[in-house]
Amino acid sequence: MDERIRSELRILSVDDEEFLQNLSVRVLKNLGYENVTSAGNGVLALAEIRESTAPYDVVITDLNMPEMDGVELLRHLAVNQYTGGIILLSGEDERILETALELASAHRLNILGAVPKPLNPGVIKGLLEALKPARPKVPYQPLEPITEAELRRGMETDELQLVYQPKVDVRKSKITGVEALARWRHAERGTLGPGAFIPVAEQSGLIDGLTYAVYKKAMRQVGAWSREGIDLNISVNVSINTFTLPDFPEFLLATAQKEGVDPARVILEVTESQVMSNVLGCLEKMMHLRMKRFGLSIDDFGTGHSSLQQLKRIPFTELKIDRAFVNEAAAKPSARAILETSVDLGKRLKMDIVAEGAETREDWDLVAQTGCDHVQGYYVAKPMPNHELLQFIDTWKLPP
Ligand code: C2E
Ligand code: CA
Ligand code: CA
Repeated sequence: MDERIRSELRILSVDDEEFLQNLSVRVLKNLGYENVTSAGNGVLALAEIRESTAPYDVVITDLNMPEMDGVELLRHLAVNQYTGGIILLSGEDERILETALELASAHRLNILGAVPKPLNPGVIKGLLEALKPARPKVPYQPLEPITEAELRRGMETDELQLVYQPKVDVRKSKITGVEALARWRHAERGTLGPGAFIPVAEQSGLIDGLTYAVYKKAMRQVGAWSREGIDLNISVNVSINTFTLPDFPEFLLATAQKEGVDPARVILEVTESQVMSNVLGCLEKMMHLRMKRFGLSIDDFGTGHSSLQQLKRIPFTELKIDRAFVNEAAAKPSARAILETSVDLGKRLKMDIVAEGAETREDWDLVAQTGCDHVQGYYVAKPMPNHELLQFIDTWKLPP
């Protein structure tokens, strides 16, 4: 980026801590970004954006602020049709960052990246230089929240479909399984990701029916693949409350058998934070499922604060490290430390270790070197519909 563009780029820096705010402004100015305005919270930032005579190119915002926090600010930016870049400053709480990133992608905001505080000149420079010109404005349709009735209708009309993301055995460099991920091919809203409807399903009690529907489709698909001579393991996401349903294990077993799928090929994923919220409630069901040879995976590991003690009690077969500790972990000492500790813990408990969210060669090399058994991430492939998968598996090779 040349000097002139740099000095003209309009940046809004939002932070409630004056010291950090001043530091950010200084770092930016030292890099040649002269046109920096500060705002002490989300409310002030919005007022500045609305009243300013020229649009901002970049908003750099802290997530944890009183008055209006960064997550809420993102929502307002979307409503205000802000099309510039956004950089998130993450403090200690990775969960908030996850939520913010999910929200941002649901709103199609242009997130340039998330960086730890305080602002590091090298990191921020890289992000700002990568700034692409604002995309042409598409008419903005505010995301009306999805209602329970709408979701029920979508499920009844079979608009929920599955996409599959390959999971690669690191040592063999071979695709050995897939994770089934739900998509809603909504008649009016277009395709929606799970972030738009899983929370509604969980709050409304539709989640059990949704999980059953997803599972049935997944089993049917694996059965069909295996008749074509491709044997894949399949991972399915399950909410913790569904685990406690009395007929759940029988349903899983009967459905798998009906489609000719060996339960040993099926991995049930449940997030670490959900498990830890109800260890006692699901322990017995999980034991039962293990005895039927289903695999059990603890998903989004690293975000849910489980203790070794708790982990030892539940017979997990797989530990799935959250992408926050995989993606770009080579350059983030704290993420890398959590990655390494998680691998170590998983190995001690004899679990299969999956690194999620590997997007680059660096990510792949790091997780391979750390000792992860499987990798799932955009570096291998994004989730894809069933008709693309077999061809993909056939031709996929680890890039040299
Ligand atoms: P998850 O179980 O952690 O699934 C992995 C998510 O990470 C998927 O997002 C996948 O597309 C995304 N991902 C995979 N590799 C990469 C990568 O390299 N980079 C990045 N940035 N992202 C990557 P997706 O499909 O949007 O799903 C989001 C979450 O929704 C899932 O997270 C899961 O918790 C939930 N979900 C999806 N399908 C179901 C379902 O059928 N039932 C339930 N209960 N939850 C579901
Ligand atoms: Ca999962
Ligand atoms: Ca995950």
